[in-house]
Amino acid sequence: MSTIRKIGIRKRIALVAHDNKKRDLLEWAEHNKTTLAKHELIATGTTGKLLEEQLDRSVKKMLSGPLGGDQQIGAMIAEGKIDILIFFWDPMEAQPHDSDVKALLRLGVAWNILLACDRATADFVLTSPLMQVEYETIIPDYSTYMNRKLED
Ligand code: PGA
Repeated sequence: MSTIRKIGIRKRIALVAHDNKKRDLLEWAEHNKTTLAKHELIATGTTGKLLEEQLDRSVKKMLSGPLGGDQQIGAMIAEGKIDILIFFWDPMEAQPHDSDVKALLRLGVAWNILLACDRATADFVLTSPLMQVEYETIIPDYSTYMNRKLED
């Protein structure tokens, strides 16, 4: 049996960008400043600091991604505290925290949150009419997994 989670009108948006993608994210955020002003922003450490400077507003900053920030955001997704993840990861460069990057992407899908990894998708997400209303998201049914019998 799947469960429903309500996403409010004010969305909780997590933003993460790898170093080569930070400029891209900042430009995107500046372009969408008015829309983003209506929502709560959470980010990994360096991305969050740059966003605060760019947008002149407060952003909830976690640790820097490679120092545990990706995992903190992943934990928030699992706890139902993030509605949307804008994650501009770098497809051209290996990261010291590749395992954390993979884990974050995995949790985004596991919990059926909105997940945009490039500017085009992020534009479509932010301009969706669903951004202005409450939305009921379906959390996949993990009861079979949770109730599985383990061999002694
Ligand atoms: P940062 O982390 O915002 O602290 O640079 C981004 C990342 O996860 O690599």
